[in-house]
Amino acid sequence: MADLMPAIFLGHGNPMNALTKNVYSDAWASIGRSVPRPKAVLAVSAHWYIPGCAVTANPDPPTIHDFGGFPRELYQVEYKAPGSPELALRVKDLLAPIFVELDEGWGLDHGTWSVLTHVFPMADIPIVQLSIDKTQPPLFHYEMGKRLSSLRKEGVLVIGSGNIVHNLSAYAWGKSGVQPFDWALRFETKVRELLIEGEDAHVIDYQALGPDAMLSAPTPEHYLPLLYVIGLRGKNEPISFPVQGVDGGSVSMLAVQIGRGSIV
Ligand code: ZN
Repeated sequence: MADLMPAIFLGHGNPMNALTKNVYSDAWASIGRSVPRPKAVLAVSAHWYIPGCAVTANPDPPTIHDFGGFPRELYQVEYKAPGSPELALRVKDLLAPIFVELDEGWGLDHGTWSVLTHVFPMADIPIVQLSIDKTQPPLFHYEMGKRLSSLRKEGVLVIGSGNIVHNLSAYAWGKSGVQPFDWALRFETKVRELLIEGEDAHVIDYQALGPDAMLSAPTPEHYLPLLYVIGLRGKNEPISFPVQGVDGGSVSMLAVQIGRGSIV
């Protein structure tokens, strides 16, 4: 029987994590050492949130510095992992009849490279990004994950990159040791409980979780990558949280892993 690759949601947080050694980057590196080496990575990043479905089909995807106001060295980071037109086509096939554009214009955005530079520092595993169709409701994104589930048997590591709690207007830029807001902790705890209990319908319908959800996910794009990963979860499959913490009071760094880390 083919071994199943895990699927992982990663909270990427501040782009400066790409250059920083901290508890998050250490935990991401540890994930990279614990998972079976994938043939390729399919990444769903909060930062490719567009009207429509697209996959990067470029065999040599550029590193995109899609942010402003950060130190120069962050703009100099190049994550030179190859693309995989083959995987792009496979994803297009799996998602049919949903139309998926084979995109040559995007590349690897910081939702992908700021974490993968720690998970796979050699940048030698091919990466394809899948966009998040901003015109679609949360259930659509969960179903997209389900349609992609056979990739796990094909040695592809599916990664969602966002943040379960992501409120930048409340974020304490440049400060360390900031205590999490109560609403951030409550929402993160609630989502974690629902994940453990397998209450997917409530994780999908997160906007019904009340005022804490409105503060924690004021816009959907950082939450939605989680739904792709949850959609890939098999019945009674283990779930774990290999990275934990809240940064700047209002950005949850929680990672959610479906399946086991090592093939035995
Ligand atoms: Zn982000």
